[in-house]
Amino acid sequence: MSDNKPVVRMDAPAPEGLEGEGFFATKLSSVIGLARSYSLWPLPFATSCCGIEFMAFLNPTYDGSRFGMERNSFSPRQADMLMVCGTISKKLAPILKQVYTQMAEPKWVIAVGACASSGGIFDTYSVLQGIDKIIPVDVYVPGCPPRPEQIIEGVMQVQELSQSESLRRRDLPEYKALLDSYGIE
Ligand code: SF4
Repeated sequence: MSDNKPVVRMDAPAPEGLEGEGFFATKLSSVIGLARSYSLWPLPFATSCCGIEFMAFLNPTYDGSRFGMERNSFSPRQADMLMVCGTISKKLAPILKQVYTQMAEPKWVIAVGACASSGGIFDTYSVLQGIDKIIPVDVYVPGCPPRPEQIIEGVMQVQELSQSESLRRRDLPEYKALLDSYGIE
């Protein structure tokens, strides 16, 4: 078992901008990106063993709350980061897609573990071979199961994405085309 301890960061960097005595100026999009990235509301869609690693990620040792994810949501309308942890059967796939479509923009998706990313060891007729067959995925976390540190890494990548993406990204034709390719309006 690894004895690597997660690093506690208490110093979220300020966005790039102009600083002077008594003032700081930056872009509105940078401030909104910073706020979004440190107030993610995850929706755990946990179906099997990877869900246990997600629970470990939230426990006091790894403490997912350090990332501003204090509030887990089990309601798609009050969540902006879908974390799919576990095997998704083809029968369950429409439910997952419905959950995704009920989430408000902007939203991000993490495929946690081999099953969510690619079907994992279950190369069978009944298992979806990766959730990206039905919804767009932003970050893939490898492993069977991934360790909580890897889930943390995945969350930090979503934080980077949410900080760097343009406020208008969701209005871009490329994004709409991506959703169209999944049959999502
Ligand atoms: S990736 Fe491995 S640990 Fe995770 S749900 Fe699949 S079989 Fe279980």
